[in-house]
Amino acid sequence: MENSDLLAIAEQYGSPVYVYDSAKIVSQYQRLSNAFSGVKKLKLNYAVKALSNLSILKLMKSLGAGLDTVSIQEVRMGLKVGVTPKNIIFTPNGVSLEEIEEVAALGVQINIDNLSILEQFGTKHPNIPVCVRINPHIMAGGNSKISVGHIDSKFGISVHQTPHIVRIVENTGMKINGVHMHTGSDILDIDVFIQASQILFDVAKQFKDLEFMDFGSGFKVPYKEGDIETNIEELGEKLTKRFNTFCENYGKDLELGFEPGKFLVSEAGHFLAKVNVVKQTTSTVFAGIDTGFNHLIRPMFYDSYHRIDNVSNPEGRERFYSVVGYICETDTFGVNRRINEIAEGDILRFKNAGAYCFSMASNYNSRFRPAEILWHNGEAKLIRKRETFEDLLANQVEVSLEAMVSIDK
Ligand SMILES: *Cc1c(COP(=O)(O)O)cnc(C)c1O
Repeated sequence: MENSDLLAIAEQYGSPVYVYDSAKIVSQYQRLSNAFSGVKKLKLNYAVKALSNLSILKLMKSLGAGLDTVSIQEVRMGLKVGVTPKNIIFTPNGVSLEEIEEVAALGVQINIDNLSILEQFGTKHPNIPVCVRINPHIMAGGNSKISVGHIDSKFGISVHQTPHIVRIVENTGMKINGVHMHTGSDILDIDVFIQASQILFDVAKQFKDLEFMDFGSGFKVPYKEGDIETNIEELGEKLTKRFNTFCENYGKDLELGFEPGKFLVSEAGHFLAKVNVVKQTTSTVFAGIDTGFNHLIRPMFYDSYHRIDNVSNPEGRERFYSVVGYICETDTFGVNRRINEIAEGDILRFKNAGAYCFSMASNYNSRFRPAEILWHNGEAKLIRKRETFEDLLANQVEVSLEAMVSIDK
């Protein structure tokens, strides 16, 4: 995508606006598939929560991806675009037995992450095979907000409780058809990941009815210059070897699954916002843009770094700016950023705006959520309209208050 394409989109659809480049999603999918070409049965289930637009789900389906879902609503969106139930896995955390049963009734693969639900589900539905989510207690990455495999994490059944899983399986007669882990959002060290997978192999051996093993996700993509990213090719080589050996010993070709979200869509996303005001203070120059953490919360929520550039003036002299939002809160997107000289009215672009950006957007400050555009075969396609004032009010119920309020005079 050229700067001129982005500017044309901002012109036509207004700002702020999310733009997703389908070619990048396709190439990331292919890169991951190629890295595991040595595995007989590979299954990539796209993590819907990263970016849940129906057109993105359709694109994933056309690539042959299944879906990883965390709510029955995500399941329904997948079914709506024609993904078959058996290509959807439901990996919720802390949801009710009722919701899990409803999803199971749709024919979707269930993944259970605690012993209480496992026992209840197995007792009621011994004929529905389920996957179990194991917590191998391996720390991947350093940020506790996005590391979900460590000892204090709420996610998964502790690997030390495997004997208890085995007992539940024996007592209920249920079948375990898959074992799963998802260690966190940043795999920086392949060998740490391999260690965790070794733990999962040890668990897997104890179940006789397996059809698949799911190694979750956590593939890291570069957000800033010089960032290390997960070496997918090295991971592919190392894990494929171990997985194939495991299958030989197990006596069956299992499916190897992953659930990438960020890896598939992060870099495909560009978020465009317009500069409302350039404000010089005693210590810095602020560029105030027409968005805030209502539309892109990752910098404030996770201290994430998103590169920001000025697509209106890419050749301009570089100066230092703090880029801030228009919300009545401190909503700083970046401090002391070297950006080509900014004038009011310029369009700034945030990179890596595909994953956990729109999907975490809100209406805080009663602002509309932005439009979404899919850039596909050199053409901009609107895949979500910007909200309107009517959308904001749609579910509000205005009551008549006269009868309820009485003020003593
Ligand atoms: C969120 C999530 C993923 C996707 O993680 P990414 O870091 O976006 O790849 C995969 N599996 C499960 C169970 C998740 O909750």
